[in-house]
Amino acid sequence: MKVIYPGSFDPITNGHIDIINRSCLLFDSVVIGVSKNKSKNHLFTLEERKEMIDEVFRGRKNIIVKIFDGLLYKFCEEENTNCIIRGLRAISDYEYELQMAMANKSLKADLETFFLVSNNKYSFLSSSLVKEIAYYGGSIDNLVPDNVKKLLFNKYKGVE
Ligand code: ADP
Repeated sequence: MKVIYPGSFDPITNGHIDIINRSCLLFDSVVIGVSKNKSKNHLFTLEERKEMIDEVFRGRKNIIVKIFDGLLYKFCEEENTNCIIRGLRAISDYEYELQMAMANKSLKADLETFFLVSNNKYSFLSSSLVKEIAYYGGSIDNLVPDNVKKLLFNKYKGVE
């Protein structure tokens, strides 16, 4: 079975990667759906985010990265699956995640959202936190892969 892991991934972190690797043990393939989150200001463009995720999973045939725009249930229809995976870090994620899962189900009754509990190591980790640490020059070595670290560093240096 195929599962969609939707998110803004701005940028992808080791917390996301952990969820993706664990999803691969449960599903035949994982489609990472990169999209805008209207309530967030994004640092990287959708294409930049897709490219960096492609690089992280290069050679992994059961992981596909796609950009999507619009409602998640429509993307699921296009991809011919009714399975969505999301990560849960803390109680604070729960309310939002539950609301989204219910909204998606109200739009398409056979959609199922699966939640994976965050790895202990990454339960504090978010893309915004990584950006903040990188912006102020702190170490993000254990938080993101090397290619993402370089891209963040370049963004904040204003270097391409
Ligand atoms: P969105 O803007 O859609 O919330 P994110 O990229 O912030 O996109 O998150 C995508 C999904 O990954 C969400 O379900 C979020 O809870 C989960 N997630 C983010 N960081 C972590 C982490 N460190 N551990 C586990 N899950 C995470």
